[in-house]
Amino acid sequence: MLVAQRSGERVEATRDLPDGAYACPMCASDAILKRGRVKVAHFAHAPGAVCDWAGESMRHHLAKRLLADRFRALGYTVEIEEPHLSVGRRVDVAVTVPTGDRVAVEVQDSAISVNEMQRRNRTDRGIGFFATMWVFTSSRAARLLAAQEDDEARVPNEILWVHDRYHQGVFVIDERAERMWRCNFGRIVRQGESRQWYTEDGELTGVNYPDQALKFTKTVSRTEVGFALTSRQTRYHKPGHPDFTVVFTSKQA
Ligand SMILES: [Zn+2]
Repeated sequence: MLVAQRSGERVEATRDLPDGAYACPMCASDAILKRGRVKVAHFAHAPGAVCDWAGESMRHHLAKRLLADRFRALGYTVEIEEPHLSVGRRVDVAVTVPTGDRVAVEVQDSAISVNEMQRRNRTDRGIGFFATMWVFTSSRAARLLAAQEDDEARVPNEILWVHDRYHQGVFVIDERAERMWRCNFGRIVRQGESRQWYTEDGELTGVNYPDQALKFTKTVSRTEVGFALTSRQTRYHKPGHPDFTVVFTSKQA
């Protein structure tokens, strides 16, 4: 984690922070400052600690740190790992943009069910966020980051859901290269007659089937975007019932 408690105050991990008595905001056990020269400064639980907030990956730390730094450089107000313990939620990066809207940026480094994503979206609305933004790390979206234009790739279910729900592409962060990408997916239809096709689980099952729209294998196109945020109406917008999402804005030419 990037934030710990010291004397009742929230403190962000930095390399020049002094050693001291830090505690996990969730379980209140000791949080050990790790300054590591290569790794991003963070707090760790003692080995063997049982806490929902223990054991995050370095990618997750890097991604949250990068997002917070870039948002602050843009003048946004940022709270890292904002706790909402009454609803069992810790928002990875909570951003307040100049319009006053608050955006919950969720960095997803591992698999997650669509149900859980929908639950977090609803929870975030309930605690005052304008929108939840899903950002996938280089772990879960490795093939999308590696794809050349119009390459075919198997897309994890939750990433496809974001794509189809908002129609604004899917955001993938390359936390080491410090770049943000928007990925869009295109349908692939396999013709019948002697073509290979695949089950939903990606298993090759045979040939000579009627034309088949592949569900999880898609063409991938990628565009680099900046870190500035813009709100957009989603395709679910109805008069009187606006539905918004927030996107990373395209880089200026
Ligand atoms: Zn803890």
